[in-house]
Amino acid sequence: MKIARYQLEDKECYGIMEPARLISLLSLAKRFKTHLPNKIDAFIADENAQKTAETLFKKANKNELDAAATPLSEARLLAPLVSPPKILCLGLNYRTHVAETKAILPEEPVIFMKPHTAITGSNQKIIKRPFVKELDYEGELAVVIGKKAKDIPISEALNCVFGYTILNDVSARDFQFKGSQWTPGKSFDTFAPIGPCIVTKEEMPDAGNLAVRTWVNGELRQDGNTRDMIFGVAQIIYHLSRVMTLEPCDIIATGTPSGVAMAMKPPKWLKHSDAIRIEIEGIGVLENQVEER
Ligand code: MG
Repeated sequence: MKIARYQLEDKECYGIMEPARLISLLSLAKRFKTHLPNKIDAFIADENAQKTAETLFKKANKNELDAAATPLSEARLLAPLVSPPKILCLGLNYRTHVAETKAILPEEPVIFMKPHTAITGSNQKIIKRPFVKELDYEGELAVVIGKKAKDIPISEALNCVFGYTILNDVSARDFQFKGSQWTPGKSFDTFAPIGPCIVTKEEMPDAGNLAVRTWVNGELRQDGNTRDMIFGVAQIIYHLSRVMTLEPCDIIATGTPSGVAMAMKPPKWLKHSDAIRIEIEGIGVLENQVEER
């Protein structure tokens, strides 16, 4: 299933995303007189609810699905999650990106965090403050955790995954490298666009071979594949869960392939009105425009 969160008139909904429409899971549940959590966060943490949703979706006939559906054009997509417990990010996790930044190949994952206040949704603006001069994009596969996880062996790591989405690890390079910590450059409001949906892991059995592409104003800048990651999803979960407890709805951005603005000569920093489009095979497209404000 592809699960999206969206706004319909003044109501927040979540449901199944199809190419041209969204099917409200709460409407389906109501029709079949059963219960699903009101919020997507609770749904992600509840395996029984996910099974119920799958059953309802299979059981519903065409008319029942039509009655619960809204055309994509009539709904406003929201970021699938707005206040995850944590947003963890990997730095330097693609060999091509390590090479273009002339960094050293990491022996352990390079970990940093972004605050949830950085989250924004697809088709929302990335706000560039006028004092930020070196604004960059990073198209990334992001993992959404479904189960509490601590000290998880690599062989069991994927059991903790709920699904996958796209995250743009927007970065102000002039703030990222000012001190010894990357946090300031990674944490401005709107620096974590995510979406358009979360693809459940059942629908994506192998996240280790997906094309990741980023365009800026139609120009292809990043053309990578998740098979080039240094640490794959299971290894990442293993390493992170040795340090901290992972919780349902935690988001883990898995790093970016080569092609960022910083590595271009001269760098093509993002500016007002630039449109960034990130596509990951099997998930969809995350699109945002820069607004200087
Ligand atoms: Mg990144």
